[in-house]
Amino acid sequence: KPLIRFESVTKQFSDTVAVTDLSLNIYEGEFFCLLGPSGCGKTTLMRMLAGFEQPTSGKVILGGQDLSGVPPYNRPVNMMFQSYALFPHMNVSKNIAFGLKQDGMAAKEIDQRVQEMLKLVQLERLANRYPSQLSGGQRQRVALARALAKRPKVLLLDEPLGALDKKLREETQFELMDLQNDLGTTFVVVTHDQEEAMTMADRIAVMNKGHIEQVGTPGEIYEQPNTRFIAEFVGDVNVIEGKVAGRNEVGHWHIATAASEDFMTIDDADEVLDDGQEIAIAIRPEKMIIGRKLPENSPNLMKGEVWDIGYLGDWTVYRIKLDCGALVRVSRANVNRYVDNPISWDERVELSFVPNAAVILSR
Ligand code: ADP
Ligand code: MG
Repeated sequence: KPLIRFESVTKQFSDTVAVTDLSLNIYEGEFFCLLGPSGCGKTTLMRMLAGFEQPTSGKVILGGQDLSGVPPYNRPVNMMFQSYALFPHMNVSKNIAFGLKQDGMAAKEIDQRVQEMLKLVQLERLANRYPSQLSGGQRQRVALARALAKRPKVLLLDEPLGALDKKLREETQFELMDLQNDLGTTFVVVTHDQEEAMTMADRIAVMNKGHIEQVGTPGEIYEQPNTRFIAEFVGDVNVIEGKVAGRNEVGHWHIATAASEDFMTIDDADEVLDDGQEIAIAIRPEKMIIGRKLPENSPNLMKGEVWDIGYLGDWTVYRIKLDCGALVRVSRANVNRYVDNPISWDERVELSFVPNAAVILSR
């Protein structure tokens, strides 16, 4: 049974529909990420869960209770905002204590809880500092401690790491995961950063233009994208357009493309396709095999030349200009530091991928 249910929720602001007939279940104890481009409606959805906005139609249900008309302070939900919204004139302890005080908690109990929270986010030594005396990462922790102080059943985090630099953001991702694991609180984290969502989430809902395009584990979203939007938004992908030309004896689809002389063969049993139908094949760069000369019976053989090479340290990304004119990306892990005779610019190369490395997207 889901802890949180959005049932056909629509939210309209004068001339903008921010969320369109959206349904979604979130389960107790999940680390759930809401992923999507800026403006797709993520914050609006969270504000309806927290109670700062009312749906134009549809229902938000929490633990079986319809939340219509329940004010924010009566919901077992707390929200940490993108901007942190710390009180500049209060020190760290006072910031964390604020909500507890408002709830009328006894002073002694508040002290205890604040100590507990300071310890949780490792800010014990900075209890008396003011927000202006803290780094971005420390401010983020204060906001987190403040949001967790009331021990909400659900914590909503709207772009919690957006203000941090890359290195700190990556460290903090793992800290958030540990924290959620220790507390068992249901976390719903909003982000527009796909790597962040993939790293942290048990499940991800990918949003686009007010609706949800796909919900699944990071692995499902990455390996089995339902739509071209998902394939392109989550990770790097090559999209090759083609036409269905029947199936072979093991049920793999034959696809005619300009990228390959022969039909491509794709193992995507989920799709129901018609002969002649225009489709797109999506292949991740790391699933492409590259070589100067590949065996002649390599599946889905493509030929072209190296257009450019990007060295990323852990990976090298090759852009290959196929003979049909299309550019595709191929990535290889730099496992061996000393590669004999590495592929270089302007060389002729061949590419291949196995039939189950790609998915078919209907156009
Ligand atoms: P996200 O968080 O995914 O970036 P938002 O939920 O903030 O997206 O916004 C979704 C859409 O709704 C945007 O087009 C935004 O301009 C619009 N919107 C959000 N809040 C309001 C508001 N209070 N009044 C009018 N339009 C709004
Ligand atoms: Mg937002």
